This record gives sequence, structure tokens and C-alpha cells, in this order.
Amino acid sequence: VIDILGLHKWFGDTHVLRGVDLQVMPSDVVVLIGASGSGKSTLLRCVNRLETHDEGEIRISGEPVRGDERYINALRARVGMVFQHFHLFPHMTALGNVMEGPTQVRGMPAAQATDMALGLLDRVGLADKADAYPATLSGGQKQRVAIARALAMQPDVMLFDEPTSALDPELVGEVLAVMRGLAGEGTTMMVVTHEMGFAREVADMVAYMDEGAIVEMGPPAQIFDEPAMERTRRFLGQIL
Ligand code: ATP
Ligand code: MG
Repeated sequence: VIDILGLHKWFGDTHVLRGVDLQVMPSDVVVLIGASGSGKSTLLRCVNRLETHDEGEIRISGEPVRGDERYINALRARVGMVFQHFHLFPHMTALGNVMEGPTQVRGMPAAQATDMALGLLDRVGLADKADAYPATLSGGQKQRVAIARALAMQPDVMLFDEPTSALDPELVGEVLAVMRGLAGEGTTMMVVTHEMGFAREVADMVAYMDEGAIVEMGPPAQIFDEPAMERTRRFLGQIL
């Protein structure tokens, strides 16, 4: 689904991505781990073109992530993104937030969008919160609305950038449970997280990033239990 080849990105003089190669296969969950500043968010943001890359190529379902605005908007609709801080529309209900993309971007009739959005809210366990405004929801509930909103565009791939980092500890589990469910249904996902239990249990592949490149990538058992690289071992030693 996602092919990343020789990706480079500079912010001014700072060489932030230094030749990232990564393939995400259909239905796979790839968890990105790595120290602060290693480039994890930048990599995700390049995939849906919130940032432009300078060298190399990203393809989503075979289509290159570059080109004019119209083309990029169409491509972006195929990539769902969930951020640390939910970014919900505060003046819209949960239902309104989930319906917004399908009706405004896809031109879906309101009745059909309502049905779909109610179905998605049910799927994230919030059927009873359809009419609630974000300000009245807990962090975990807001994040689950954000997930439903991203799913409403029926993306080819879902990107998660530390979706539970801003949550109180007791709310982390409900969001991870939704993500686990999506993974179980075959959703293709790239996930930046510090939740190593989730990574071990749900990831097909874990990629360790350091200084703008993927140092090592493999199934969770390999990365966590027998990392080949000294840098990976040192990083895991600090966080586990
Ligand atoms: P964290 O775990 O703290 O979220 P990260 O791995 O997601 O870190 P990035 O946010 O991708 O790291 O940042 C990688 C590098 O790029 C850092 O050195 C950061 O300071 C720099 N950087 C990120 N965004 C910008 C920007 N908009 N302008 C300039 N530098 C940036
Ligand atoms: Mg980040």
C-alpha cells in the first residue's frame, strides 16, 4: 500500500529524514519507534503531504505523492490521520465531525453520510455520543471520534501519530482497543507510539528510527527480544 524509497527531507539546514526506505503491505500494522526528534512525525506527515519531501519517492497504492494541489487533495483523502491532539471541529457534534469529510469532500448525500457516521461512532463505542460536542467529551472519547472521522473517508491507510500520548492513563486503553480492532479487521496502519505493549501485540512490523533513518525493522519479537543493532538495543534499554 505504501512504498517509501530513499526519502530525504530538510528543514532549512537540518537534514531531518536521511534516506528512509519503508514498505507497508496491505493489512499490515507498522509501528514506528524512536527517540524524540528522530523524524517519526515528519515521516508520517510526508506520507499525507502535510510536509513535502525533498528527495526520494512515496507511493500510495502505486500513486506518487507529488503533483498539483488537486491531485494531492484526492490522494490525501485516501490517507486517514489521527494526531496526538484530536483536532476536532469544536463547533460540530461528534456526528457532524464524522460526516464532514464525506459530505464536503466526497459530496455524499447527508442521509447516507449520517447512516455511515452513526455506524462508525458505534464501531468506536460512541453510539450514544453522536450529538455531543467535543468540549463535553473526555480525551479518550475525543480521540475515538477523531478515529471515526478519519475512517469516514474510507482511507487506504490510517496514520496515527502518538494517538494516546495526550491522554490520562486510564483513557489510553479504550483508544488502543479501537486501534486493535481496526488492525484485526485488516486496516493498513502506520502507528507512532510509545505503547510498547500495543506494538508487541498488534504490530506486524516494528521499525526503529534514529537520526532520520530506519535503523532496524522486523517483527516485534525480533526487535524487542533480539535486536540486531546496538543502537536499537540501547534505545529499548532506556524505555522498557
Ligand atoms: P517526537 O518523538 O518528539 O514527536 P519525532 O521523532 O516525531 O519526535 P519530528 O517531529 O519528526 O521528530 O522532528 C524531527 C526533527 O525535525 C527535529 O529535529 C525537529 O526539531 C525538526 N522539525 C520538525 N518539524 C519542523 C519544522 N516545521 N521546522 C523545523 N524543524 C522541524
Ligand atoms: Mg513526533
